[in-house]
Formats: sequence, C-alpha cells, structure tokens
Amino acid sequence: EKAQIGVTGLAVMGRNLARNFARHGHTVAVHNRSYGRTKELVEEFGSEGKFIPAETAEEFVASLERPRRVVIMVKAGGPTDAVIDEFAPLLEEGDMLIDAGNAHYLDTRRREAALRERGLHFVGTGVSGGEEGALHGPSIMPGGSKESYEALGPLLEDISAKVDGEPCCVHVGPDGAGHFVKMVHNGIEYADMQLIAEAYDLLRQVGGHSPAEIADVFKGWNEGRLGSYLIEITAEVLKQTDAATGKPFVDIVVDEAEQKGTGRWTVQAALDLGVPVSGIAESVFARALSGGADVRKAAADAGLPGPSAAAGAHAGDLQADVEQALFASKIVAYAQGFQQIQAASAEYNWEIDPGAMAKIWRDGCIIRAKFLDFIKQAYDKQPSLQTLLVDQYFLDAVSGAQDAWRRVVATAAQQGIPAPGFASALAYYDGLRASRLPAALIQGQRDFFGAHTYRRTDKPGSFHTLWATDDRNEVGA
Ligand code: NDP
Repeated sequence: EKAQIGVTGLAVMGRNLARNFARHGHTVAVHNRSYGRTKELVEEFGSEGKFIPAETAEEFVASLERPRRVVIMVKAGGPTDAVIDEFAPLLEEGDMLIDAGNAHYLDTRRREAALRERGLHFVGTGVSGGEEGALHGPSIMPGGSKESYEALGPLLEDISAKVDGEPCCVHVGPDGAGHFVKMVHNGIEYADMQLIAEAYDLLRQVGGHSPAEIADVFKGWNEGRLGSYLIEITAEVLKQTDAATGKPFVDIVVDEAEQKGTGRWTVQAALDLGVPVSGIAESVFARALSGGADVRKAAADAGLPGPSAAAGAHAGDLQADVEQALFASKIVAYAQGFQQIQAASAEYNWEIDPGAMAKIWRDGCIIRAKFLDFIKQAYDKQPSLQTLLVDQYFLDAVSGAQDAWRRVVATAAQQGIPAPGFASALAYYDGLRASRLPAALIQGQRDFFGAHTYRRTDKPGSFHTLWATDDRNEVGA
C-alpha cells in the first residue's frame, strides 16, 4: 500500500502533523534527516494509524502515491532549501512539495517560481496553533496553485480544526499568499498580547488589584465579547502561583519579552506596502524595549522623572473602561492587519477573501476569538470594505467605547504607565476620522526644503512655492 501523504521533518510539529493525518485514517510516509526521530515516532505512536517509515529520501518518495504530496516541516530558512534541493530531483511532474514551516513569504514566492519551472507544485502553507494545534487540528493557510489545492485541500481540511463542522482551512491564494497571511496572523497575535498586557498593567497599578483578582476579571471578560483563547490563557497565567516562592507567577518572571521574528516580518512588510499597522509595530517595539536591559538600567540609574502610579487614580469605573479600551484597540489592530492583507493581495494579485481568513482563524490558532465571526460577517456583507472600522458592528462598538477608551489613555499618561498599544490605536482612530490632518504642513515643509511640490484643495495640479523671498510666489506645474 502506498501513502496518501508524506511528512519529512519529524520534530514536534512534523511528528504531530503526521500523527494527525494518521489518526484521520490516512497512510502517512514519515522521514527525517536523522532516522532516530522516524524510528521513535513509529515506536511511540505507530498504533495510532498507518505509518510507512523511510530511512532515505528515495524510499520515502517511492512509498507515496501519485501525485505525491510531501509535507516539509523543518527549520525555516536554509534547512528548507536544503530539503527542497534533496527532494525536488526525486519528484515528477504534478507532484507537490508543501512547506508547512514558518517561511518568509518572499522565500515562498522564490521557491514556488523555481519549482513551477520544473513542473512541481510548491505549496507554502501557514500552520498555526503550535504543537497542540498540529496534533488536534490547526488552522491551516495554504498558498500555491488552485490545481494543487484540489489534490491537497481535502487532506488538509480533514486534519484542520472545525467550527460548526466547517474546516479552518481554505486556499488562501497563489504562491506566497498562505505564508503572508500566517505572518500577519502572528503580527495580530503580538498586538493582541500587548493590549492584554497593558490592560493587566492598568488594573494592577491603577486598580490596585492582585494578579489573582485580575485573573478573575479576565475570566469574566472571556464570557463576553472579548472571549478568546488569549484572554482565557491570560487568566490561567495570572492565577498561577510560583511553587518555590509562593509569589504570583507573573512576579517571578523576568520582564523581557522575546520574539522569534514573525511580528518583525509583518511590520517590515507593512512598511514596504505603506500600510500603517501601528498596533503591531508598537507591540514589536514594546517587546524590544522590554528586552533592552542596558537602556532600561541606564534610565533607572538616571532616575528619569515621572509620576508613580497611584491606586484609585481613574475618573470612572476602571474595570469597565479598560474592557472598552481593550476591545476598541483590538478592533483597530485587526482592522490594520486585515488592511495589510488586502494591500498585499492587491500588490501580488492574490485575490484573497478577507472574510475567509477570519473564518479559518476561528479555531485551531492562537488568535481564535468570538469576534472573528463579526469580521467574517463584515467582509461577507461587503468584500471591498475599506476598513473594518466602518462596518456597522465595529462602528457601534468603537463609538460605544470611545469615552472610556480616552479616559484610559489619559489615565495611563497621567499616571506614567506605558500603554503604547491603547494610545497608538486611539491615535490611529482619530487620524482616520480627522477632517483635516497636519499632513498639509508636512507637505509645506517638504516643498520648502526639497521643492517636492504639493496639491491644492481648490484646484487640480501640482504646485511649488518660491519660498526664498516674498510670499505668494506660486508656480503651477
Ligand atoms: P524545528 O524548527 O526545531 O526544526 C527541527 C527539524 O528540522 C528536525 O526535524 C531537523 O532534523 C530538521 N532539520 C534542521 N536542519 C535541517 C537540514 N539542514 N536538513 C534537513 N532537516 C533539517 O522543528 P519544529 O517542529 O519546532 O518546527 C518546524 C517548523 O514549523 C518550523 O519552520 C517552525 O517555524 C514551524 N512552526 C513551529 C511551531 C511551533 O510551535 N514549534 C508553530 C508553527 C510553525 P534532525 O532531527 O535531523 O535534526
């Protein structure tokens, strides 16, 4: 018997994906650079389904039915290229190489183009949900050709998470579209985590609550419109006590957030596309600031002046206000992320359906949340929506939240508590709604020092002012 699918790269992610396929009744060929992992997988989990272990790439390829479907789950970057170089010569026209690692979408575009020339399908696939997701049902974001999705999609849909019986897997678009969307998913995850952390900080410092009390607040929020995996695990983390010291767990952890890079990639791509993903950018920078131990120490040593947060210093119901600020800021972060997806889709002709992305993120991934249903509905109603903020549900939510949102940002500023996520989300919102922006002045400055010209509000064309001597020297161009 031949295998329907093969997985090469059997560290935690590959092993769990392979087991997931096998548990769904598919025969799975398994291979790893070093045979030890392959042997271990079959020894430990062989009883879960049908595995065909292969020691060499040749054996592995020979054990697959055609068209061959080879899932690559190795370290992103050089190792992925090495594995492609090893397998591509062994494959035949119409076979598929599926990169399920966290590749950069530009690498995926490059690899797809090169393999297409050789008659092979290269399917860059986003897989979210970590090791648990890989085993029990991840959210899956495959790119690549439509044709490859016809042969591969049903298997991926089979092992994906399901919401009301619908798979959290859809063909995102050609070449790098899947990896791009996975990248933005991770960027949104960064923003969401930062906003939650700011909410906690305010409740702790201004609300004067203990981590355990705040855990209960998050538990309550999880029952409402903020209901999501990240809110749920936040409650778990906050309620945790350190066994060794008896202190709240969150107080014994070094306050320097690390990152693997997908948030940074999201912001880099957004800069190139000219899309203001300020929420994601602030969250990446907040992690960088937290990790800058030397700078923080220099600031502490110099005693940079500012207020110390006083418990009770908030003009309003802090808990209710923070919930509103969190929800509104979260809407902004998602609106920005979706705008980035739409911008890239236009740039690369991917024709991504944004509503379908919200749909497949509803389970199996880190940002799964109740409110993705509303994002899906917003794009289903109007696929060309300019920004989620103008959809009625989100418009109502933000208009209901905004007094509280402003109070929270004001309190953070007055009490000296950094809340870059809340503050930048509000600034973005006010930027969008402004009837006049000071960008007009910036255009004037640009024209002054660089003769970059400007457009006028009262007539078409581009203009340059002769600044040096008298006023009113205007030249139309
Ligand atoms: P790792 O990223 O730790 O990679 C280890 C695997 O890569 C091993 O199978 C290893 O083989 C193989 N490998 C490394 N270098 C080479 C090479 N030059 N040639 C062939 N094989 C090589 O494994 P993970 O399971 O953690 O992740 C796999 C992929 O999934 C990564 O791209 C990761 O970014 C992505 N991912 C991971 C998630 C997670 O939660 N861990 C979540 C979502 C995606 P050997 O055993 O021989 O050393």
